[in-house]
Amino acid sequence: MQIVQYPHPTLRHVSKPLKRVDAELRAMVGQMFELMYAASGIGLAANQVDLPYRLFVLNTSGDRQQKELEQVFINPVITRRQGSAEGEEGCLSLPGLYAEVKRPEKISVQAYNLQGEEISADLDDLPARAVQHELDHLNGKLFIDHLPPTKLMELRDAIREFELEFDSRRQRGEIGDDQSLRARLLDLEQLRT
Ligand code: ZN
Repeated sequence: MQIVQYPHPTLRHVSKPLKRVDAELRAMVGQMFELMYAASGIGLAANQVDLPYRLFVLNTSGDRQQKELEQVFINPVITRRQGSAEGEEGCLSLPGLYAEVKRPEKISVQAYNLQGEEISADLDDLPARAVQHELDHLNGKLFIDHLPPTKLMELRDAIREFELEFDSRRQRGEIGDDQSLRARLLDLEQLRT
């Protein structure tokens, strides 16, 4: 398992709801937390590790010692959005890129945890922003999609760098073609969704 970077096609995949929680899924979640901490992130979505499932992990402290802050969201749904707030965001699939993003300020979210229990939470500030950012990933959306054209222009060269790097990695055979990546996602979906 590794974190894929923009413009990897799985980042544009609309992920499917999971049907069950089992030992294999718990192992995947453990690996996702490891990758997230190793990359100094606070959240990581399944799409970002090339998995087509509606699942993300979060620890808004970013500190692996603070295990009590670890949260797993399976099949999350935002049931309420309120207000509007701007805050800086980055993404482990676009490392080094940061921008102010406007989003609803407060949200209510429902999901399942790793025990398969339904959870719900009313969130604001960083947790609300992080959950919305990660849930976007499950819908194939990235934080740069929220930026106004002028801001996107400023970041154009950096974004182009990611695209060139992706193309050269693909030419070296490190990343499969769109068809084989898509076939793999469909196989994985059939196993668990
Ligand atoms: Zn992200």
